[in-house]
Amino acid sequence: MNGLILPSSFTSLWDPPANVAPGGFWFIFRAGKLLVTTSAGLPDPPGIAMGERPPLPVSDRHFVGLLDGVACWVASCNDIEPPAGFVFETLRGLFNHLPDNLLAVAGRGAQVVEFHRTHCHCGVCAALTELDDFGRARRCKACGEITYPRIAPAMMVLVKRDTGHGRELLLAKGARFATIYSALAGFVEPSESVEDCVHRETFEEVGIRVCNLRYFGSQGWPFPHSLMIAFTADHESGDIACQAGEILDAQWFPTGNLPELPSRFSIARRLINAAIAEVAPDHPALRK
Ligand SMILES: [Zn+2]
Repeated sequence: MNGLILPSSFTSLWDPPANVAPGGFWFIFRAGKLLVTTSAGLPDPPGIAMGERPPLPVSDRHFVGLLDGVACWVASCNDIEPPAGFVFETLRGLFNHLPDNLLAVAGRGAQVVEFHRTHCHCGVCAALTELDDFGRARRCKACGEITYPRIAPAMMVLVKRDTGHGRELLLAKGARFATIYSALAGFVEPSESVEDCVHRETFEEVGIRVCNLRYFGSQGWPFPHSLMIAFTADHESGDIACQAGEILDAQWFPTGNLPELPSRFSIARRLINAAIAEVAPDHPALRK
């Protein structure tokens, strides 16, 4: 269960090696949706276009690396119908359908395409930009300003406490994702450490203090360009008091009575599963 984490079989590169075969995988986006093969409702999993050339006209192309030695290209196209046998689909719509390794590369591709789409003009002088640094950046043709893809670090923390009745997890339902309870999360502010962000956001969102922060892991999250940095923490003090406008509800959930949990593609789910596995290795949530 790797979620959107790039597999070890992927080699991150920005310039195609001289000996690589022409073409490869084509991750082509149209208005944020990815071109995938379809089997007209049959149970075959969708796939990514392969070949020497993209299967439709593209307006740009960028090399992003090798997957099992096969070149991976990302590209975007304008308002054009997919060729026969293909459809455009959102990345979220491809969760549980597209193989994990392809989905992870698609997540990288979505961010690369979005970066180039939104940085055609310089943020300083508004002149046109061009590719720089082997395509991983853009440079202003007039003033020379260089811009790299924006990545927004965000912390995630799963707060837990062990009571006489067993382990409880603090899960919250945010105002923006009102259907699912999950770990707490929030964006890091300028000059703030991730650890300080954990303490600040936890107190702001649910009014409690935490201790014993332990780093869990991180994951790129291409919606649109976050890096989730996840921790576990123990409850130190305070009762839950939800931040108005941000948190609809937050509760201590016993591991034996959990609400619907986030998708297995999110680091939130891996974080929650790890906390469950410590006390209940046979918990049914770990099999989903
Ligand atoms: Zn400029």
